[in-house]
Amino acid sequence: MTGPLHPPGDTPRATAASPAAPATSAAPAAANGARLPHGLRGAAPLLALLALAVLVGLAGALGYRYTYDTALARQAERGQVQLRLYTQALESELAHYDYVPGLLSLDERIAALMLRPDDATRTARANEYLSALNTRAGTRVIYVLDAHGKVLATSNWQRPDSYLGEDLSFRPYFRSAMEGQLGRFYGVGTTRSESGYYLSAPLGERDNPVGVAVVKIGLEPLENRWQGADSQMLLTDENGVVILASDPSWKLAALRPLSAEARERLARSLQYNRAPLPQLPLTLVRKVNNGNGSAGNTSSDELVRLRRGPPMLAQHAALPGTDWQLTLLTNTSQARVAALNTAALAGVLTAFVLLLGAAWNVRRRIINERLAARAALEAANSELERKVAERTADLSTSNQRLQAEVTERIRAETVLRQAQDGLLQAGKLAAVGQMSTGIAHELNQPLAALRTISGNTGKFLERGDYATVRANLDTIIGLVERMGRITGALKSFARKPGNGRRQAKLAEAVDNALFLLQTRVDAVQPALQRDVDPALAVVCDPNRLEQVLVNLLGNALDAVAGKPGPRIALHAHVAGGMVHLTVRDNGAGLSEEAFARLFEPFFTTKPAGQGLGLGLTLSAGILNENGGSLSATNHPDGGACFTLVLPLAPESHSQDADHAG
Ligand code: ADP
Repeated sequence: MTGPLHPPGDTPRATAASPAAPATSAAPAAANGARLPHGLRGAAPLLALLALAVLVGLAGALGYRYTYDTALARQAERGQVQLRLYTQALESELAHYDYVPGLLSLDERIAALMLRPDDATRTARANEYLSALNTRAGTRVIYVLDAHGKVLATSNWQRPDSYLGEDLSFRPYFRSAMEGQLGRFYGVGTTRSESGYYLSAPLGERDNPVGVAVVKIGLEPLENRWQGADSQMLLTDENGVVILASDPSWKLAALRPLSAEARERLARSLQYNRAPLPQLPLTLVRKVNNGNGSAGNTSSDELVRLRRGPPMLAQHAALPGTDWQLTLLTNTSQARVAALNTAALAGVLTAFVLLLGAAWNVRRRIINERLAARAALEAANSELERKVAERTADLSTSNQRLQAEVTERIRAETVLRQAQDGLLQAGKLAAVGQMSTGIAHELNQPLAALRTISGNTGKFLERGDYATVRANLDTIIGLVERMGRITGALKSFARKPGNGRRQAKLAEAVDNALFLLQTRVDAVQPALQRDVDPALAVVCDPNRLEQVLVNLLGNALDAVAGKPGPRIALHAHVAGGMVHLTVRDNGAGLSEEAFARLFEPFFTTKPAGQGLGLGLTLSAGILNENGGSLSATNHPDGGACFTLVLPLAPESHSQDADHAG
């Protein structure tokens, strides 16, 4: 049986290594769980861009349309003014010659000719007159026809292509005049293919005309005035055929499709002298509402396109007194440029506004998120404060409970200490009881000697042997002193400690203990081996230390009593700031049961009256209280070996070294 024993309570501290916490891979929280599905998430910016493009395009288109229409309306207003001016100019130009055919019916030379058409003199005179009038009026040709349409006299009678004698009854202006009306007609001359404006009037009575007077006017000077403008001016007749145009190449082209019947009629009247009359490749883009519904504006404005050219604004005005129509075609490129500019501006502005809106929206969202975060933080904070308050309340409750427990413990400890003190005292008194027989024997010896010596001394006094008397008295004094020492030591051991001393000389304590056990030492007669440095001091009340040593030495004396060659060895040394004192004997050693229950109170193997079983329990308690310990082992060479450990006292002269030897 080996291994140091530890007093109860000195339980080894299990150092259970806390198992490494399982590595919990911090799975990222599924942040923003409620998100769009992956496919849509990727498409969202694209959709936003698409919506932006659509809105920008829409704004651009609206801007374009509005500006274009506004610019067109303004252009149309200007066109109307221009058209009115041209109409008035044309009207006055034509009215200028209105009087000429009527004038002829008043002239006597013409009247004379009409009476005798075959008279050469009358014809010559009429020709002369017409020629002179033609020159004066600035007209192209002036001539008169008989009731059958034959030319009787003409201003161009001298020219080789003169109409004289020609039958012009197929001309509509002839028929109109023969019906008593003024004839107006645009046509191309059959002889010289020269276009012109024909004015006719009946000669003689209106109800029964004898002939027809005709004036042909060239309209080219008007045409010349139109040229050079940033526009096209067209004059179309009742058939829709261009008879005057600022661009000469457009002349004698049809503005609207000619029916077969119309073409047939025109071929018969030779109005355009077999000109091909091609269809002008003008296509209508759309009608334009110019908001100018003036009475003079009989036809609405239109946007037209010549072949694949840019759109042009077409405006029409009827020429009063005729079936003709003036058409103004103006370039719309300026309106288009203005519209494009507006469209670009509108697009850019819309994009800007939308982006601004988007930025504002993002900002609003960020602010909202911040507010939400702040609210969450405040909520968490108040929750925390609430929990802290709760915990604080819990803590103060447990604190109060703890304080109550501490007070209770202190009280219990005081009671325990009092009980311990009582127990120690009881243990000590038990030891005193054990020692009492020996002490009585110790005191009896000097008492008997005192009785004998004092009896003898009386006899020596009677004999007068004063020297022996003196010697006996000295012996008596010595005996009394010895008895006093024994009772003193006993008294000192039995008293309760409490003088407050915290240090004790180890060697002195050993001396005192051995002195108290002197009778038993004398009885057992062991070989006592002492190896304790007198300078060694330990932290412990001296009285208590003596009590421990009396216990250990008493047990050792009990163990070696009756053994051959009894031996008790005391050995002290210092290690690690602690004093170790071993008390070894060569007795029977500790039995297995004693080893297991050594520090159990009231465990004893001694007969009743000899042992209480409290010595080791109390000794271990005293040493523990002073920061030391008590352990026991069986020595390999036999016998028990107890080791007392106490802290080295500061006033101890000894160093932290082995004091053996
Ligand atoms: P007590 O001495 O009154 O029996 P202790 O507590 O001092 O009480 O001792 C308890 C028991 O330990 C003893 O009865 C004895 O059996 C055993 N013991 C103590 N010291 C020794 C020793 N030196 N050798 C053998 N046994 C011992």
